[in-house]
Amino acid sequence: MNVINSQPASAAAIGTADDGVWERRIELLSQRYFLDNIARWQSANLLPLVLIALCNIGRPGFGLTLSIVLVNAACMAGMRGICGRLRLHENPPAQHRLWQLYQGLAFASGVLWASLMLPVATTLGKDIASTFVCVTIIATVSVTSMVIATRWKGFIAFGSGFFVCLLPQTLWFIDVIGPIPLVATVAFMPAVWSLASAVYKQDRSLIRTQLEKEDLTTELTRALERAEYLATRDSLTGLYNRRAFEQVAHRLRAASDGSPISLILIDLDHFKAINDEHGHACGDSVLQKSAELILETMRPVDVLGRGDSAVARWGGEEFLLLLPDCPLPMAVQVAERIRQRLGGLTDPSWAPHLSVSGSFGVSCWRPEATLHQCINDADEAMYRAKHAGRNRVVAGQGADGPAHADGEGSSRAVNG
Ligand code: GH3
Ligand code: MG
Ligand code: MG
Repeated sequence: MNVINSQPASAAAIGTADDGVWERRIELLSQRYFLDNIARWQSANLLPLVLIALCNIGRPGFGLTLSIVLVNAACMAGMRGICGRLRLHENPPAQHRLWQLYQGLAFASGVLWASLMLPVATTLGKDIASTFVCVTIIATVSVTSMVIATRWKGFIAFGSGFFVCLLPQTLWFIDVIGPIPLVATVAFMPAVWSLASAVYKQDRSLIRTQLEKEDLTTELTRALERAEYLATRDSLTGLYNRRAFEQVAHRLRAASDGSPISLILIDLDHFKAINDEHGHACGDSVLQKSAELILETMRPVDVLGRGDSAVARWGGEEFLLLLPDCPLPMAVQVAERIRQRLGGLTDPSWAPHLSVSGSFGVSCWRPEATLHQCINDADEAMYRAKHAGRNRVVAGQGADGPAHADGEGSSRAVNG
């Protein structure tokens, strides 16, 4: 099924898709539908057999009729059993063998249906029971042919069995019953064949339409997922953009159940100088690597051992982190850990002396504050970290008093 799923799905691709792959997909689905439904038809087929046996009670050929009816019923039970096993077997060689067996039994069943004409052949048109038997056989064989037409080889086997057995009978009894049954049989063959062929084609075309619809739905779903991803992400780093961060932040706050939430705002130091000295592409690479490092360090299991978190690219060289269920001191520790790792950030494509650092502002999202008030607190703390010499962590509002840079008061400058 992997090959099947790799089929290109757009409307254009459908037109040019490899016919062999399409045929295989259609065949598999058609086969599944056939196997899902055939058992019911095989059970229903017992009714005409019983009727034929009842019509022959007391007639000279009753013993023969009953034997054929019983053998035919056994044959159909065998076909039903094979279909049951086919539903279970996934491997192609086993399936192939079972289908061959099914075709063999379909041929035998066709022969047996035609054989049921034998006991009534000479009395056709002379008594109502013979006529009823004949009509029942023709009707059952016609409907069965249509029902099994989607398994074309099975239909051919069944039809061949029926006509191979019926045709000699109409010739053999021509003196008694005249040429009309012979002509009718010869006319019946192409009629059944062309009807079955129409059913087969219609089935294929319906299944193809269904598969095309499924493919388009899958492609549409993927496109929507992709569009949603792009709408919520920063294209350079893959982090949340502002809008998505705000949404996620409110969702996490709603789910936080009153537990403390902290924010960390990171601004890379002297980033303009990195761009100027090493080029814009190198600057982009620094942003990407910094984003990776932040995500890695933020992993809930590594850092906090609980909760979800959100990281956004808040501005050009600014990152904003939201840590649910995380009091301010713990957020300061997380910030410090990121700051230290940022100092060791390298990449083979960078100049050896390129060093990265950031200034960190940490704040606590107090219950009465809005998200933007909390971000402003973190921003103010970050600016204090800048003014205090950069490459440091400063805690802002949410600490137990007014915030000061450089570790004064109850706010903390963890490093400087
Ligand atoms: P400070 O330590 O005070 O933060 O100094 P700074 O140079 O980092 O800050 P400034 O605001 O002066 O410069 C930020 C620079 O970031 C300017 C801008 O060109 C650069 N920048 C913004 N977005 C991108 C980006 O997507 N890629 C690259 N390479 N540079 C960017
Ligand atoms: Mg900045
Ligand atoms: Mg900066």
